[in-house]
Amino acid sequence: MKVSVVERILSANDRLALENQTLLDAHGVLGVNLMASPGAGKTSLIEQTIDALQGCLCLGAVDGDIATSLDADRVAARGIPAVQINTGGSCHLDANMLKRALSDVPLDEIDLLLVENVGNLICPANFKLGTHFSAVIASIPEGDDKPYKYPPMYTGVDVLIINKIDLLPYLEFDLDYFSRGVEILNSGIVTFEVSCKTGEGIHAWADWLVEQVEAHTQASE
Ligand code: MG
Repeated sequence: MKVSVVERILSANDRLALENQTLLDAHGVLGVNLMASPGAGKTSLIEQTIDALQGCLCLGAVDGDIATSLDADRVAARGIPAVQINTGGSCHLDANMLKRALSDVPLDEIDLLLVENVGNLICPANFKLGTHFSAVIASIPEGDDKPYKYPPMYTGVDVLIINKIDLLPYLEFDLDYFSRGVEILNSGIVTFEVSCKTGEGIHAWADWLVEQVEAHTQASE
């Protein structure tokens, strides 16, 4: 049977993703892949998460963008190790990019690695990175139709974070319609409603991360 080039690329990526996960496991690090459209608040969520977990967990971050180190600079300013990946035009991170970045992350010093994918609701859904969880961040200004228009992104993730909920009174966003779309694709998905601006809901998300890190540590002992 003929195997398409795309399938071969994806299976090579899966192998590297497994290597990344093995490396993270060996250092007792839980990895989370954060995906979203541009401007949904990936970097802001990382900043808020760092602040919420200060003194509780040691974090590291890898930030993917087509160009600049703006996001890694923002995250590093919060006092955690942050590595920027510039994809040079590619619309997603892949396992090989993360593998290279991991060699610059002090894995022995951290418990939790937050990976900020390139802002895009399409391509990142196709490429495993080797993180233990993947999350999609939706935001109120994007509109309530995104689960219907980008089903693979909503199907393949473990966690949904709805950001900018402080804007709900001001924008046309039907939370019930949005949630019904999510429910069809990913029934019962762990969901957090947050505002990176006001801090609402951040502690519930941070507490969930602590629980996952503890479970991961116990599983690898
Ligand atoms: Mg960003």
